[in-house]
Amino acid sequence: MRVYYDRDADLNLIKSRNVAVIGYGSQGHAHALNMKDSGVRDIAIGLRPGSSSAPKAEGEGFRVMSPAQAAAWADFVMVVTPDEGQRRLHDEELGPNLKDGATLAFAHGLNIHFKLIEPRPDLNVVMVAPKGPGHTVRGEFARGAGVPCLLAIDRDPGGQSHEIGLSYACAIGGGRAGVIETTFREECETDLFGEQVVLCGGLTSLIVAAYETLVEAGYAPEMAYFETLHEVKLIVDLIYEGGIANMRYSVSNTAEYGDYTRGPRVIGDEARAEMKRILAEIQSGRFARDWMLENEVGQTSFKAMRRRSAEHPIEEVGERLRAMMPWIAQNRLVDKSRN
Ligand code: NDP
Ligand code: MG
Repeated sequence: MRVYYDRDADLNLIKSRNVAVIGYGSQGHAHALNMKDSGVRDIAIGLRPGSSSAPKAEGEGFRVMSPAQAAAWADFVMVVTPDEGQRRLHDEELGPNLKDGATLAFAHGLNIHFKLIEPRPDLNVVMVAPKGPGHTVRGEFARGAGVPCLLAIDRDPGGQSHEIGLSYACAIGGGRAGVIETTFREECETDLFGEQVVLCGGLTSLIVAAYETLVEAGYAPEMAYFETLHEVKLIVDLIYEGGIANMRYSVSNTAEYGDYTRGPRVIGDEARAEMKRILAEIQSGRFARDWMLENEVGQTSFKAMRRRSAEHPIEEVGERLRAMMPWIAQNRLVDKSRN
């Protein structure tokens, strides 16, 4: 597998183009600000009229246009609005206005891989997908580091998509950490699997189940919070820095013995079989179909699940405990008034 770095890219390819970033949310603000710091001058942010993000983008000195205007102005258009609305955005605003031979870029493969969006044949279609949350993409860049990116080419009528995509990936900081070439299919399926089984779904279900087990057994909620949520970061930092063995080197022998003998019981045959079913649902398009249908009914279950989860006691205990640890709030990655 080939990994590219800043030295492999020609930053001028992106600097010499008009670049539109459609959406100024988690990914959008990070791409735009990192590019600006990399010396890309002709950047416009595409937002719908009355967008709540427009003041944030304007506050950073960016010019804001409608998505249709931005598509007509740009040579390179990065779509970083929520996946579920991209089909309509493309079909109504971007598709009819994109310049001949422009490059249409995505940060996740779902809409192209499952053919929800079918771009015009003259367009170059690429993906530059940072492998981290947008606020981390900005935070790491600002401290001189970067988040690895995936690069994939779906269509390349102009013959330069790889070089232009790599240039963009490096302008947003990916070339500092590594840009890995992949396909829309591989990115889409592994990304959905990772977020469902480990990063978002698996991890939060593990935390909540363990928290509830302790609290139901009569232990103090504060104790349960520290043990099952707060310490996750401390352990993950060690894994991130040097792999699982690095973490095991640092924890006590008692913790390490418990890890080997009890961990596989938590994630046993049943959990592994479920992982396989979840992967099959992703590959067959069933997950994408379920999610798009949920959007057609106004996200009713999605919004209810979001509200119910936010009301879980672990959130209230956490808010109280974090207030006693002011360093956590310093240099916060997420500041909802700005990003
Ligand atoms: P967000 O939910 O943060 O995007 C919100 C932004 O999109 C807001 O600025 C919003 O503006 C704007 N927006 C929403 N609808 C429209 C529209 N119809 N027209 C114009 N602007 C619109 O998205 P994310 O950053 O989470 O995700 C963007 C893409 O990046 C997705 O493809 C996702 O899969 C991918 N990705 C995301 C990651 C992440 O860290 N979140 C990680 C890797 C990839 P308004 O104020 O009008 O609502
Ligand atoms: Mg992901």
